[in-house]
Amino acid sequence: KFIARKDTVEPDIKAFLSDNRKNALEAAAAVDKKIAAGEAIADMAGVPGAIKDVICVAGQNTTCGSKILEHFKSPYNATVIEKLNALDYISLGKTNMDEFAMGSSTENSAYQITHNPWNLDYVPGGSSGGSAAAVAAGEAVWSLGSDTGGSIRQPAAYCGLVGLKPTYGLVSRYGLVAYGSSLDQIGPFTNDVEDCAIVLNAIAGHDAKDSTSIPQEKKDYKKALINDVKGMKIGVPEEFFVEGLDDQCRKALEEAIDTYKKLGAEIVPVKMPHMKYGLAAYYIIAPAEASSNLARYDGVGFGFRADGTDIVDMYRKTRTEGFGPEVKRRIMLGTYVLSSGYYDAYYLRAMKVRTLVKQDFDNALRTCDVLLTPTAPDTAFKIGQNDNNPLAMYLGDVCTVTLNLAGLPGISIPCGFKNGLPIGMQLIGKALDEETLLRVAYTFE
Ligand code: GLN
Repeated sequence: KFIARKDTVEPDIKAFLSDNRKNALEAAAAVDKKIAAGEAIADMAGVPGAIKDVICVAGQNTTCGSKILEHFKSPYNATVIEKLNALDYISLGKTNMDEFAMGSSTENSAYQITHNPWNLDYVPGGSSGGSAAAVAAGEAVWSLGSDTGGSIRQPAAYCGLVGLKPTYGLVSRYGLVAYGSSLDQIGPFTNDVEDCAIVLNAIAGHDAKDSTSIPQEKKDYKKALINDVKGMKIGVPEEFFVEGLDDQCRKALEEAIDTYKKLGAEIVPVKMPHMKYGLAAYYIIAPAEASSNLARYDGVGFGFRADGTDIVDMYRKTRTEGFGPEVKRRIMLGTYVLSSGYYDAYYLRAMKVRTLVKQDFDNALRTCDVLLTPTAPDTAFKIGQNDNNPLAMYLGDVCTVTLNLAGLPGISIPCGFKNGLPIGMQLIGKALDEETLLRVAYTFE
């Protein structure tokens, strides 16, 4: 059924970079056999999903949406894929993304532009736009994305889905191609909060192969799905409801706040004075880490190689031809802020701001169970609208990037529509308290 749906809508949506139907059908048949034999199967077993093309699946292409990794086949599985394999998961393919997860619209892919299933003239968000569009268009039940500065939550908001960025360290990054290593997390896109809990159950857990993975007891997130927020404290930071927030989005969020009040939650206004510096700090720290992480693509170890007269010429041509304009911009920004004359002025200051941002969150979450904010200042924008205006694209990330700086979990859930396009609401939780986050989201749904 899902393959048929994919064949019908994919020419318009362009969510996928690869087609895994042969493996998927074999895996499905194996699940059928288990069922016929009366064997117990996992929640995930046989349920079609899709994987962002930044996550390594053994033997399959992992392009990261970049020409520099065209034809690169991953020799091993990411830990999340190993975990999903053990549950008999099915993937219908790898999904399109902004090159190396840099962007907010999926227009920065070297391969194709993905369209928003709610209106094909609009972007699905990014950088995990292919994963979001695949689920929103009914081509998959769930998908995995990665979130360095909003790349799961913002496309979830633009596509009317549930999207979760887990606490930094909850899900292993082993086999996730690095963008900003201190910010990156893998997380699910689903149609509802229950599915979100099921996928999180599948992928969460300590992994010795990721040195930043947090040792922890295994939780059952489905148990957190309690339809009750009575007496819970929901903080509303005024700094997220600033100028630039679209009026209709503001109204939808105010209605959501009213709904929570009616459900018995206490709404608490909170102040987060350093939030206004968060976006600037993110756009220093993320490119700094990216410039270092991307140094490995030199035509020797991975993927694409250009011809050169000598080895330095080969490096230069490989990187010139292999990377797209946004990736080059980030490398330039990153190497600049890390260079000796500017390190103190930019990178070090950004790291100090990061600490202040984290303190703001810690203070707010000391008195509140969760925080409620917009996921983005507006609904999806038109394809091409931000061409040649990277700054406008960056500014749209203002509500999402601060969580990554603080390592906290965030979920985006739908809370209304504007002109036929979904509006997203973000809930922010305490570190490793995905349970409360899921509960508050579930009760609203
Ligand atoms: N839009 C942000 C960026 O371009 C976030 C991307 C992400 O979370 N991967 O850096």
